[in-house]
Amino acid sequence: MHLIVAEKNISARRIAEILSDGKRVTENKDAGVSLYTFGDTASMGLRGHVVEIDFEPGYSNWRSETATPRSLIDAKTIKIPTEKKIVSLLQKMAKKADRVTIATDFDTEGELIGKEAFELVRTANAKVKIDRARFSAITAQELKAAFATTTELDFALAAAGEARQSIDLMWGASLTRFISLAARRGGQNILSVGRVQTPTLSMIVDREKEIEAFVPEKYWQLALDFEKKGEVIEARHTNGRFHEKAAAEQAKDRTKAPLVVTDVKFGTKQDRSPSPFDTTTYIVAAARLGLSAANAMRIAEDLYMNGFISYPRTDNTVYPPSLDLNGILMTLRTSPFKKDVDWVIANRRPEPTRGKKSSTDHPPIHPTGAATREQLGDDTFKVYELVLRRFLATLSPDAQWKTLKILFDANGEEYTTTGGQIIEPGWHAVYPFSEARETILPEFTTGEKLPIKKVTLDEKETQPPARYTQSKLIQRMEELGLGTKSTRHEVIAKLVSRKYVEGNPLHPTLVGRAVTETLEQHADTITKPVMTQTLESHMQLIKQSQRTREDVIKESRTMLHHVFDQLEANQQAIGDDIRDRTAEEMNLGKCPVCGGTLAIKHLRGNTQFIGCSRYPDCTFNIGLPMAQWGFAVRTDEVCEKHGLSFVRLIRKGARPWDIGCPLCHQINSNRESLEEIPSADKALVDRIQACHIYTVAELARSTPEVLTKKLGISPDRAATLIQEAGIGLAKLRRRSECRKFMRDRLIPRRGRSSAKILNALKDAGITDLAILAKAESATLKNAGVSDAEAEQLLTEARIVFNSQILKEIGIPAVSLKKYLAAGIIEPEAFCATSPAALSEKTGMSAGTVQRHVSLVCAYLNKPVPKKISKLQIERGKKELLAISGLGSAAVEKLFAAGIIDGEGLLAADPARVFLATGIPEEKIRNYQKILKRKRETAIIPL
Ligand SMILES: [Zn+2]
Ligand SMILES: [Zn+2]
Repeated sequence: MHLIVAEKNISARRIAEILSDGKRVTENKDAGVSLYTFGDTASMGLRGHVVEIDFEPGYSNWRSETATPRSLIDAKTIKIPTEKKIVSLLQKMAKKADRVTIATDFDTEGELIGKEAFELVRTANAKVKIDRARFSAITAQELKAAFATTTELDFALAAAGEARQSIDLMWGASLTRFISLAARRGGQNILSVGRVQTPTLSMIVDREKEIEAFVPEKYWQLALDFEKKGEVIEARHTNGRFHEKAAAEQAKDRTKAPLVVTDVKFGTKQDRSPSPFDTTTYIVAAARLGLSAANAMRIAEDLYMNGFISYPRTDNTVYPPSLDLNGILMTLRTSPFKKDVDWVIANRRPEPTRGKKSSTDHPPIHPTGAATREQLGDDTFKVYELVLRRFLATLSPDAQWKTLKILFDANGEEYTTTGGQIIEPGWHAVYPFSEARETILPEFTTGEKLPIKKVTLDEKETQPPARYTQSKLIQRMEELGLGTKSTRHEVIAKLVSRKYVEGNPLHPTLVGRAVTETLEQHADTITKPVMTQTLESHMQLIKQSQRTREDVIKESRTMLHHVFDQLEANQQAIGDDIRDRTAEEMNLGKCPVCGGTLAIKHLRGNTQFIGCSRYPDCTFNIGLPMAQWGFAVRTDEVCEKHGLSFVRLIRKGARPWDIGCPLCHQINSNRESLEEIPSADKALVDRIQACHIYTVAELARSTPEVLTKKLGISPDRAATLIQEAGIGLAKLRRRSECRKFMRDRLIPRRGRSSAKILNALKDAGITDLAILAKAESATLKNAGVSDAEAEQLLTEARIVFNSQILKEIGIPAVSLKKYLAAGIIEPEAFCATSPAALSEKTGMSAGTVQRHVSLVCAYLNKPVPKKISKLQIERGKKELLAISGLGSAAVEKLFAAGIIDGEGLLAADPARVFLATGIPEEKIRNYQKILKRKRETAIIPL
């Protein structure tokens, strides 16, 4: 059997479809992984990398004393399967195969993925023949040629990929840990540092600094409008920019009609057809269609996998001689662009255009198949059209322009205007994505006099350099040798997702800037592109087998150790620096009470809130949900009313929770409960809020003196208000406690909203635990809780609620635990069970139990049971156990029924004891008989 291993499932299917040559292809699934079979051949897809490198076990604890960040530099790495189902199918098939062809993408990454597959196949089958098929497009022609002339896997190329992988892991992991620990950041808040990522971020930060440092200079531009044949035309002063206003004004004053034509210059201009697309120029062109770099690559890969365009990761801008341009044109004649294709065939330039970079791995990006809009959908079709038209443009003749430049004189001041007109559209005819703006001027003759309509003097300012757009940044990264054609767009996406940069064009966030500037100061190797460029050149050497992977990694290790020497020497300063610089990212704006600064504070144990910088002098604060609901951060939006930045709660894997303006949120979510205070009418609530009291809790904490002064109400009214607020607060606490109780226990489930259930319960009057503890399970079921859950909830509610009461009564927590374990949950149970039995069940001493029972009985207004000593219990228990046939289980039951010794047993009515204990009357009578006899025989010897 011949096994073909492709990079992805979709390419595996395409390969099977093409190579089967019309034979039936069967798709079988093994644990969800597809296998395409035809004749004696099977084709399966990987999911890119199916194994991942990681450090060997023992390095996962960030705070370990021994596995320090630096220790990661020399840590051994292992390969772990990340796609277990695919790996297992691959190995299962490898055992049966007599030939395996690796058909992954043809580049460094693809070769490495191929090598990973190679190793997995070898483990399963030591003898099978393994070869490699290389192709740049998934088309019949390319694939058949590739499979007819397979070669060996290029281990040198794969080794280059492996070296990059190891080095990226080592740099990224050790530096990320070091910086995060130094800045005391953990969890979602870590500061990531990376070999390519950090120098790229540094470029964005540098540009931002240039922009900030830029001092704009004023300049003036002089222009005039004149009229010719009813058309208004603008001419500019030939001086260009005037740097002094006075000079510009003088020139303006001197400008007088008539405007005399002094010269008419004709010319022509060649407008060269564009060169073929490589990855970078493609991304730049796609950006003009409104696509981000990552999106542009995703769509291009999709088109490649489906055989519509060639491999989109390429540095080549020269078509190789082997590329069948005529064949491609013929194929494209069946696309919706037949008219354009035919025009190109009729007007074709002798040689296609060529760019500056020629490499042998892949041809420039070009179309390989015909597709329709219906087939692809709008966005993908837009990209397909771009690639197709670019290909056509590279085969089209240059465009020709006619140019015209007119010089004028206005009372000694010289003006000019220029025009341009396409006379041969050339490639513009098939490539509308590049603007060709024509300015058509009427005819002028020297000496002609024209009227001036108006003269305008514009004051302007020099502009700072522009921020990087994603595509500009990719171009710059390429120039600096940062990253590869395959990774550049991913690096940018990473910077965005890690909140180091934002917006388009890109600008650094406060954190992005803090990390970069701190590193620049203490270990600038990480922020400079040199180190990364060195590695790229080493990778080239590995590819050419001039250096080994181990050797390059070793050198990189040494380099990283030097970086750590610097970092560790400055650890304290680095941490302090980053913390100082990022403190601002938590500032929200002015405190409404004192004018200090409000900032988000994160405390240990998930607590977060908004507090004032003038604490303790100013105690104004706004509560926030616990951090497990989302880590609070500031956003760019600012409240128009309060001037405070908006707050957002972010949580991995969850949609962010936008709180908006924290003060607006505070006001809105507490207004209703303030209005629930009986003596506070709407007008008073308005006044209360105007004094920056927003919650019932703040009101309850206030003093009558303060309120009297602030609100202008009588001391009596103030006292009532505070008292009512106290009652209201207790109610609110019980309400939120009940909500929290339910929320914690309602397991999130698809199609069920816990908020909805909570509201239904609220409508049913269940607003606190006391009510919930006594509720019927039917009420819960009506609100949408399942049967089993309702029972569980009610039991737990009873436990939680009664525990609170018992605690209030004065039962210590340790004892409470013992009572709960013994099933004594409700206070009533303390009075219904005899203290002796309680002592027996809980293992606590009789004295302790007696004390607790007295407390509970007093609380419930019930008579306190007679005191029993420990000795009495012990003696009674012994006496009862001495009765033959009466075991400890029965003793416990009797104790519970208040029968704690022989005396009690003899005095008891067997029928009643049966009701209380379940021990048959017959047995009890028997116990009584035995006991009586015992007593009698015991008396005789006296
Ligand atoms: Zn304040
Ligand atoms: Zn607001």
